[in-house]
Amino acid sequence: MRRTVVCFIRITAANLVGQKLLTNSCPPPISRVDLKDYSPDELVAFLSGLGKERFRAGQLLRWIYARGVTNFAEMTDLSRELREDLAARAFVSDWSAEVVETSTDGTRKYLFRLDDGQTVETVRIPMEAGRTTLCVSTQVGCAMGCAFCLTGSFGLVRNLRPSEIVNQVCAARKDGPVQNIVMMGMGEPLHNLDNVVKALEILYSTEGFDFGTRKITLSTSGLVPEMLELGRRVRVNLAVSLNATTDAVRDELMPINRRYPLKELMAACRAYPLPPRGRITFEYILIRGVNDSLEDAKRLVKLLHGIKAKVNLIPFNEHEGSVYRIPERSAIEAFQVYLLNRDIVAVRRSSKGQDISAACGQLKGRLEREQKLLPELSPTPAKR
Ligand code: SAH
Ligand code: SF4
Repeated sequence: MRRTVVCFIRITAANLVGQKLLTNSCPPPISRVDLKDYSPDELVAFLSGLGKERFRAGQLLRWIYARGVTNFAEMTDLSRELREDLAARAFVSDWSAEVVETSTDGTRKYLFRLDDGQTVETVRIPMEAGRTTLCVSTQVGCAMGCAFCLTGSFGLVRNLRPSEIVNQVCAARKDGPVQNIVMMGMGEPLHNLDNVVKALEILYSTEGFDFGTRKITLSTSGLVPEMLELGRRVRVNLAVSLNATTDAVRDELMPINRRYPLKELMAACRAYPLPPRGRITFEYILIRGVNDSLEDAKRLVKLLHGIKAKVNLIPFNEHEGSVYRIPERSAIEAFQVYLLNRDIVAVRRSSKGQDISAACGQLKGRLEREQKLLPELSPTPAKR
């Protein structure tokens, strides 16, 4: 059985800790850096600044990401001098979840409290054959303001740093292996492109996590220039939240469409360099009376012409305050059958973890309503 990957997260963290020196005669204060904020290349450059060889970066990546060690003292194949040097200038952040909720279907949602009191959600989704997909967030909130999306209604609070993206994976892996990652949690990954690319480079590094490029999917609402830049900078599977087949409807649902209308978006999809044997996933939320007609299905087939595509049909996940409704089951089926009959791979995705509000932004919304996790309630920062 196929499983849906729809999740949102909320994060906060400020990981560069200032280390104050005590007297004026001392050299200027040194800020300790979180090594998880460095891409593998940046780690090499950092070590070379300490007069250390390139291969030391590989050793550090192995300790931090492959073995999950965050205390320099335990990194026994590094010299004592290097370990002391590192401890003086750097640290390795380490998260534990503040809240973990497990759904009856096995979906598990983690909520992490970050240094500035914000929170971030990560969702662990059991898949077929005992595999696990992790849905990670890339921003706290989101600036894109899609009309159907709870996260969009929060607005953007801030970008996540690379460490805050990869720490979601590090923390979730303490609960068991993770085979696939989807950047489909809270936020628009391409609105935080530099940090997302660094996080991808860390996730791909062979000495560290060693994820293959086909194991990670990034989902975007369609920021066209950033899609093209992403393709130039790194290989990653792409998912595009399409959700409409005319500019008029997409303009209403997704304000980003007014800047990059369907024609430009589809051209960017055609130009996107996919990993070998890859396809672009088009996410299509079916909303009653808005985009669920057979006319829409027909237009969708035309839009996808010539693109290596698969379509995820996601019945709208209703949430409080939303004017939109889930379509009739018959409309969903008819839409799917129309695509299948035209040889388009169309998978119906049912939302997992309904009982723990595992869909986009819903846990955050629910918990804040319940006053459980408001920042003013003496936050416990994610453990370092
Ligand atoms: N910002 C990115 C990634 C996060 S959103 C993007 O938009 O692609 C992840 C997915 O959740 C998107 O495909 C979005 O369309 C979907 N989504 C948001 N709100 C939803 C809802 N209420 N019901 C079903 N899917 C929703
Ligand atoms: Fe942001 Fe994606 Fe939600 Fe749109 S659907 S508001 S881009 S998180």
